[in-house]
Amino acid sequence: MTLSIDSLAWDKMDGLLPAIVQDPATGQVLMLGYMDRAALAATLDSGLVTFFSRSKNRLWRKGETSGNVLKLVAVRADCDSDALLVSAQPQGPTCHTGTDSCFGTEPEGAGWLAALERIVATRAAASPQDSYTARLLADGPAKAAQKVGEEGVEVALAAVSRDPEGLTEEAADLLFHLLVTLRSRDVPLASVIERLALRHKSMRTGEEQSA
Ligand code: AMP
Ligand code: ZN
Ligand code: ZN
Ligand code: ZN
Repeated sequence: MTLSIDSLAWDKMDGLLPAIVQDPATGQVLMLGYMDRAALAATLDSGLVTFFSRSKNRLWRKGETSGNVLKLVAVRADCDSDALLVSAQPQGPTCHTGTDSCFGTEPEGAGWLAALERIVATRAAASPQDSYTARLLADGPAKAAQKVGEEGVEVALAAVSRDPEGLTEEAADLLFHLLVTLRSRDVPLASVIERLALRHKSMRTGEEQSA
């Protein structure tokens, strides 16, 4: 982490910077808090997001009573160093009302895939009678893997028969069963995405080398 506390615009902001907390897996904005120097230092030292609470008039480690802490991944400052973007993994609902986000929003776009990954994980504890996902997980990796094969073929058929509606449907089936398969073999979606990003980087390095 290369953020330098001294380089931030503390004076301009009367010692308190707004800090937006974002879930790195889903891109979801979780909450907004304020940090003074001590709160930022505590966040960096402990790896748990800590604010200065204006109502409590003291440092407030998010989750100190609820247990719903925010595990720090990264902090960055904005263009003029007067606001913070905190990337952190929530360990439960971030809002005290029990919702994941204080803004009541759901993860959007591709971030929803990571939200679905979490839903799939929770179904491991559900009753197979009540949930198709729970049944798939209970049947073991071979069953989910077989479904990936079938849905992959259905995706291919829809693609060659120029059926965009069918392709959308089958691609959704494929992604869902892929998530169940990854779950049943304990491979995080984040690792898959990391691999894709790495390949892109190495391709770009390759382009630069050949240029
Ligand atoms: P916690 O930090 O989760 O242990 O919550 C302690 C107290 O902080 C709660 O009772 C709320 O008053 C307040 N609080 C918790 N989470 C939030 C939040 N996301 N935004 C504003 N206040 C909060
Ligand atoms: Zn700014
Ligand atoms: Zn809230
Ligand atoms: Zn299908």
